[in-house]
Amino acid sequence: MKIVMLGAPGAGKGTQAKMIAAKYGIPHISTGDIFRANIKNGTELGEKAKQYMDQGLLVPDELTLALIMDRFAKDDCANGYVLDGFPRTIAQAEALTESLKAQNDALDMAIDVDVPDEDIIERMGGRRACVACGGTFHVLFNPPRVSGKCDLCGGELSIRKDDLPETVKKRLMVYHEQTQPLIDYYKAEGILRTVDGTKDVNEVFAEITALFE
Ligand code: AMP
Repeated sequence: MKIVMLGAPGAGKGTQAKMIAAKYGIPHISTGDIFRANIKNGTELGEKAKQYMDQGLLVPDELTLALIMDRFAKDDCANGYVLDGFPRTIAQAEALTESLKAQNDALDMAIDVDVPDEDIIERMGGRRACVACGGTFHVLFNPPRVSGKCDLCGGELSIRKDDLPETVKKRLMVYHEQTQPLIDYYKAEGILRTVDGTKDVNEVFAEITALFE
């Protein structure tokens, strides 16, 4: 099963991608997480990516494609994957289609988690991430048991630089310009499905699992 999650930053596609991965036993691949792990480990790739991420811009396709193709080569991708945050441009989507085609393969579904911009701005303002393990929480919708502390490892929670209000607005603009066209791209491929991302996490997940039946 090869799935792409679409949706604005903060639409909840990461949460849904993790739930899909757990239920169907496929890896959850988030390019954002891979970039952040590289930044944390001080790699050259991380250093390059950070310059773009901190401004709410996309990392150039060339860097992103090299990273994701390397990830697809790992054994755990043999039975498929759920992609979260990739592709984000038409060029990335085309590169993915081509690389799958070369192996006589194709994506099964692109799921758009649809949420209006106003809701996105409210959600992202409340997002907190653990500086130690990357675990994510929300002050209103998914609060940690102890305020400011990660439930998973006890680490400090902070606002990611790319979740700051000005950066959120920039990321939404970038989303509408560069990523939203993927909705039409996958519609034309006949694999687009849309779910209402304003609903409760479990209701959204129920809508998604119904798509697989
Ligand atoms: P995310 O955690 O998916 O919201 O990604 C955080 C940031 O990482 C984005 O705002 C981009 O700067 C960068 N990024 C993640 N995935 C991609 C991608 N497929 N193409 C370009 N930049 C990306």
